[in-house]
Amino acid sequence: MADKRDYYEVLGVSRSATDDELKRAYRKLAKQYHPDTNPGDKDAEAKFKEASEAYAVLSDPKKRSQYDQFGHAAFESGGGGAGGFDFGMDMSDIFGDIFGDLFGGRQRRSHNGPMQGANLRTSVRIKFEEAVFGTEKELDLTLKDECSTCHGTGAKHGSAIDTCSKCGGKGQVVYTQQSLFGMIRNVQTCPDCKGSGKIIKEKCTDCYGSGYISQRKRIKVTIPAGIDNGQSVRIRGKGEPGINGGPRGDLLVDVEVSRHPIFQRQDYDIFSTVPISYATAALGGDIYINTVDGDVIYNVKAGTQTDTKVRLRDKGVPTLRNKNVRGDHYVTLVVQVPTSLNAEQRELLKKFDEAMTGKKSQNPENEKDKEKGKRKFWKS
Ligand SMILES: [Zn+2]
Ligand SMILES: [Zn+2]
Repeated sequence: MADKRDYYEVLGVSRSATDDELKRAYRKLAKQYHPDTNPGDKDAEAKFKEASEAYAVLSDPKKRSQYDQFGHAAFESGGGGAGGFDFGMDMSDIFGDIFGDLFGGRQRRSHNGPMQGANLRTSVRIKFEEAVFGTEKELDLTLKDECSTCHGTGAKHGSAIDTCSKCGGKGQVVYTQQSLFGMIRNVQTCPDCKGSGKIIKEKCTDCYGSGYISQRKRIKVTIPAGIDNGQSVRIRGKGEPGINGGPRGDLLVDVEVSRHPIFQRQDYDIFSTVPISYATAALGGDIYINTVDGDVIYNVKAGTQTDTKVRLRDKGVPTLRNKNVRGDHYVTLVVQVPTSLNAEQRELLKKFDEAMTGKKSQNPENEKDKEKGKRKFWKS
């Protein structure tokens, strides 16, 4: 761990790099060191892994901010920050789109074995309260299904399917190029068979040889209580159909949470500001505080100062892991100074002030002992 390089340094970008700059930097490194282009090269493999790890962290705003704060310690098991960080889990999702461009995507990298279909990505917008307590949404999506006429082969019933002669059925062709850095082996999708390894003589008329039929489908997504803006929900098996009998990919639903007019959220805690009157602050008394569970009655202590922070335990957001464990709600009590007073109110307030100070008035203009010219008046 000690000799772990700084992630920004690994990618060769500044600490203020934009998402785009990160992506570009990573794409360049990934292309250079990818195992497919450097077969058997352990050094390249290590560099590829290092760059991938750096990108996985920095491309995720949450992880990036944790890294900026705590460095590598943020992701050591049991270390500070918001818990451990499971690498294996989302790697394929993070890199899916990048490798999609670089190497023709997961499905086309197949060697004709069963392959899982690609993941699909969509997004859904929900209200603040829906994120707090969880919700169900229905999504209308166009999904591909295997063509039932040709069973996904793309060939017209009974017509012959030949092995592609260009790639020998592998679906890929390898080009070797001489470059400044030595021989580069480029693996590309076979242009003749588009990666399938097969050539169809007569195409299925229902799917035009693609083997798939696209249909609008309504998909229900269960959004768990505690989800935060920018997190996503994975629905297994609702992505693209698998290749050669492989399982379907997954559908990833990115969740966007709308802002709330009163509540702000940070992790599982909720923050809000509640105005209280000067009298309540001075004398104490019960007030209503709006929480995600509805109003609660809170007893303000006599002599409460403005900006006093109050913690309402367990009134925050339920945690994703266990909805019975909740964050807290922090309320800032702000003492309101009246902005307009009528004559009666003014008189009462003056009397109150006299009672407090024992003087006729605090207005320096009325002070008998004031020596003119010695003090300057400041008008705000
Ligand atoms: Zn068909
Ligand atoms: Zn081919």
